[in-house]
Amino acid sequence: MKVDWLIVGAGFTGATLAERIASQLNQKVLLVDRRDHVGGNAYDYYNEHGVLCHRYGPHIFHTNAKTVWDYLSQFTEWRPYYHHVLAHVDGRAVPVPFNLNTLYTLFPPRYAAKLEELLTGEYGFNVKVPILKMRESTNGDLAGLADYIYKNVFLHYTRKQWELDPDQLDPSVTGRVPVYISRDDRYFQDRYQAMPLLGYTEMFRRMLAHPNIRILLQTDYREVLDGVKFNRMIYTGPLDSYFDYLHGHLPYRSLRFEFQTRDTEWQQAVGTVNYPNEYDFTRITEQKHLTGQKLAKTTLVVEYPQIYRPGENEAYYPIPRPENRDHYAKYESEAAKLNGSVLFAGRLADYKYYNMDQACARALKLFATEVVRG
Ligand code: FAD
Ligand code: UDP
Repeated sequence: MKVDWLIVGAGFTGATLAERIASQLNQKVLLVDRRDHVGGNAYDYYNEHGVLCHRYGPHIFHTNAKTVWDYLSQFTEWRPYYHHVLAHVDGRAVPVPFNLNTLYTLFPPRYAAKLEELLTGEYGFNVKVPILKMRESTNGDLAGLADYIYKNVFLHYTRKQWELDPDQLDPSVTGRVPVYISRDDRYFQDRYQAMPLLGYTEMFRRMLAHPNIRILLQTDYREVLDGVKFNRMIYTGPLDSYFDYLHGHLPYRSLRFEFQTRDTEWQQAVGTVNYPNEYDFTRITEQKHLTGQKLAKTTLVVEYPQIYRPGENEAYYPIPRPENRDHYAKYESEAAKLNGSVLFAGRLADYKYYNMDQACARALKLFATEVVRG
């Protein structure tokens, strides 16, 4: 077989690039994935009870990037959806990100009002403050509040998820869920928030339904290298694996997902409930909140953080911290030696904690810069 491009990985990054190359450049693509489906970690499927489930954990689409929103809207209609999360703290289910409503749920009204006044005085209203930043406050009451939030919302959740304390990670990690001085209970505030109406897999199916794209599943790209002729390659898998672990294994975190179906219509008040302090799992998501399905039964997915063991489980998260960035840089310099004959992109290959829209934006940019201009 002869193609213009070999693309490794059919997730957001690989699928976006395959679609652009096929439709805009009229060039031929072979898209290879070792899994038995397209969509990468965003893959969804109907389980035996008819519930649309996310095999690799709950995926909620949100973006401020109009380019990404417009691009994906060619391949899917959307169901508007605002994600809400509650966390079990001190025996109550309270809104997360921690916001002014959370304050009033946990503390006596007069004390909550005092803290609200201090928060708005120090930071302003409608402002997001990362917990590690709030901990630096010199105001005694605010430092006390920061300490309470740190200990009750972040510390044990982060230890479960990463086996690290929040300050051992790049501040951007806990900064994803900042304290929000607002009455807005939503998990995200992005301009565009919605779920693909018929699911992610259907959206990917439409992206990839182009005569210039051939898809090969359940295949490691190394298996096709001898049989397929191609001009250039795009690789979206883990970078250390591409270079046969020349500089040792890059650290990633993994998860084990446990799906449970209950004989009840609804189990939780909101899409996700976090358990920062109890149990070995971090959170439980009820799929139907995300999909909007009306069914008599309901399916939950429970997330148990795991050490990543190459070959045994999946690399889901890069671990953002300085020493890992240095380690990654060694692989980056190997990649640079290839002089653009192989392009690397995606959450695994870039070793960046991308959301779906960021993976898509990265692919669109790579297309415009490296692919089109050659
Ligand atoms: P991936 O989806 O990982 O795709 C890479 C593909 O490459 C995989 O399918 C893999 O099988 C394939 N591959 C790797 N090596 C090889 C090889 N040697 N040969 C062939 N194929 C190979 N983002 C959000 O925006 N909102 C969310 O709510 C959200 N929730 C998440 C929850 C969890 C638990 C996780 C893990 C991620 C979540 N994300 C979320 C992030 C989202 O999954 C990623 O941003 C997105 O999937 C990245 O796409 P990608 O194409 O770069 O990588
Ligand atoms: N986090 C936390 N408690 C929470 C929610 C999040 O400590 O209740 C921290 C934790 O370190 C987590 C990070 O914030 O890994 C990012 O959370 P997010 O929900 O964005 O994680 P993801 O959905 O990517 O797994």
